[in-house]
Amino acid sequence: MTELGSEYKLLVKSAPTAGGVALAQRSLRPLQDDEALVRIHRAAICGTDLHILQWNAWAAKNYVPPFALGHEFSGVVEATGASARDVAVGDKVAAETHLACGACAQCRLGRGHTCLNLRVFTRLDRGAFAEFAIVPARLLRVLPPSLPHKHACLMEPLGIAVRAAIESRVGKGRLLVVGCGPIGLLTVAAAKALGALSIVAADLSENRLRIAQVVGADMAIEPAQLDAETGRSGDFDAAIDTSGSARGIATAIASTRPGGSAILVGLPSEPVSVDLARHVILREVALRGIYGRLLHETWLEVEQLLPRLATALDRIVTHEFVLADYEQAFAVASAGDAGKVQFLLT
Ligand SMILES: [Zn+2]
Ligand SMILES: [Zn+2]
Repeated sequence: MTELGSEYKLLVKSAPTAGGVALAQRSLRPLQDDEALVRIHRAAICGTDLHILQWNAWAAKNYVPPFALGHEFSGVVEATGASARDVAVGDKVAAETHLACGACAQCRLGRGHTCLNLRVFTRLDRGAFAEFAIVPARLLRVLPPSLPHKHACLMEPLGIAVRAAIESRVGKGRLLVVGCGPIGLLTVAAAKALGALSIVAADLSENRLRIAQVVGADMAIEPAQLDAETGRSGDFDAAIDTSGSARGIATAIASTRPGGSAILVGLPSEPVSVDLARHVILREVALRGIYGRLLHETWLEVEQLLPRLATALDRIVTHEFVLADYEQAFAVASAGDAGKVQFLLT
């Protein structure tokens, strides 16, 4: 099955238009020395995939079709190149999606996730919405054999959530999570597991609010209700925006108490204006952006938290599809009402 030249199925962004996705076939090529062949078991749709699907201005600027889609996955190593270290045939793996150069000033500071020559998995044409993917071996993280693929496939986005929750120093207080898409839900679950005193989650979707409560929010409300339901705004010790919307970001910053932290995770598609004097400077709110995971530390933190997150992770994966049903899967993920949508490959 994994002989050179054998064909496998994958999803390709084939045209520079909205939609423009097709099921295609590739044949297995020889591995380069620093690569590994992974048989994909599960892969998940992420916000980045939806931007690429919709072909918004950001996607059009950063990508050139045709290229293979998908970057969040779990699988098993089928073969390794001659110089691939730390992974072996048979290992259960997920992948970091930030490929650092290892030599620039940021890398030397231990900040490979913001490497000055950063390459990201989504732009390598390695696609995880596929039966197989050939991956730079050093991106792979070997996972405990007992970890279900359903959970392993969540580790990459969970890393962002765990980092945001840790940076918010949530163990000491009251947290607001704005946006209950997959990253928001994972953030609620991570904050709960890290011992947040209380968590309020805000979203426009009733279904997502229901899931937020199941996975750890003490209160789940529409953003417009925030003032009325929680008393005065500005009394959260920390707020995490995962929506990336101008309104969500404004809500997160304005809801943070003086001296608290506003953590920004969601990526706005255009510049956002904020009343810095009123909401940040005069109230000494600390603004912090989060972009990806610390390349080793966060993965280890996620692994340590996993036993406390198992039930929540099961609830956050709301839909599972076979690859052939990709149109339906993308429709569900785009509707703004689901948790995580995963493809079942093996
Ligand atoms: Zn992703
Ligand atoms: Zn670098």
